[in-house]
Amino acid sequence: QPTKANAKTSYLKAFEKKIALLPHTWIVVRIDGKGFHKFSERHKFAKPNDDRSIELMNKAALKVMQHFPDVVLSYGQSDEYSFVINRYSKMERHGNKIMSSIVSLFAAMYVYNWNNVFENVTLEYSPAFDARVVLYPNNSCLRDYLSWRQADCHINNMYNTCFWMLVQSGNYSRREAEEKLRGTVSKDKRAILLNEFKRDYDAEDALYRKGTILFRHDCASSTTSLKTTFNLSYACDELKKGNSSNEAYSVVKEHTDIIGDQFWTERPWLLG
Ligand code: ATP
Ligand code: ATP
Ligand code: MG
Ligand code: MG
Ligand code: MG
Repeated sequence: QPTKANAKTSYLKAFEKKIALLPHTWIVVRIDGKGFHKFSERHKFAKPNDDRSIELMNKAALKVMQHFPDVVLSYGQSDEYSFVINRYSKMERHGNKIMSSIVSLFAAMYVYNWNNVFENVTLEYSPAFDARVVLYPNNSCLRDYLSWRQADCHINNMYNTCFWMLVQSGNYSRREAEEKLRGTVSKDKRAILLNEFKRDYDAEDALYRKGTILFRHDCASSTTSLKTTFNLSYACDELKKGNSSNEAYSVVKEHTDIIGDQFWTERPWLLG
């Protein structure tokens, strides 16, 4: 029996609409730094790629994966990270809650680790990150999504590498560099790097060219013959109960191609 006060306020709960996420779909949460163009200039990031910010992003993403065992894989580049949640996750499929929990933990960790990574660079103001949650109904869509993000990384990095090479080593002004690169395709940029600067784009660090993939270690390599997907959610359950060692469900970091089939065929437990 509700008290008078409860009766007066309980109707308010009906205004809270849960965004219920469809079962058995891949849940992707993508976070992206707000105004990082300005943030990176204000904190004098090395251009085109500042290793310290990448390290902070990767540390924050690792924390998210430790906190949310159902995140099977994460992909990061520039000021963004995508978190892929196991499609059969038994997590409460409440979109706003999942998304806000992930993005706030991520932002908090980016700031929490700032001094360890940037050492004597003062954090001038707190960065913020936006987030969105997207559902992908099958493995093919999910792979297309991740390919799209890695292709974006490639295109931006090739442009930025060229742009900053022209500015830093080629005595171009920013405006002149922009002018020179306008309308160029990938082949043209490779040629500029090679002919004017004797740099082979493919020899640039894979960390910059491919971004960062964090994924769960193969839980299925244990003696059990259970299906890998089942294994994965089993591992999640065990981890939540505190029964599983961290290493059995540890996270691996790579900077490799995820557009082709090889990454996925070599790691069949990821998509299940
Ligand atoms: P928005 O709020 O719309 O996301 P933004 O300024 O963050 O605006 P993005 O398209 O997200 O724009 O681009 C992020 C920018 O942050 C890059 O263009 C780059 O200038 C900068 N940046 C992010 N990470 C790094 C890094 N590790 N090193 C150098 N610059 C970086
Ligand atoms: P959930 O993740 O479900 O929100 P929770 O532990 O955060 O779990 P809440 O119902 O949100 O549970 O309650 C927050 C709790 O945090 C309070 O019950 C109280 O114990 C503690 N708390 C929050 N703010 C203060 C404060 N200013 N002083 C002392 N305790 C506080
Ligand atoms: Mg953006
Ligand atoms: Mg941004
Ligand atoms: Mg971005």
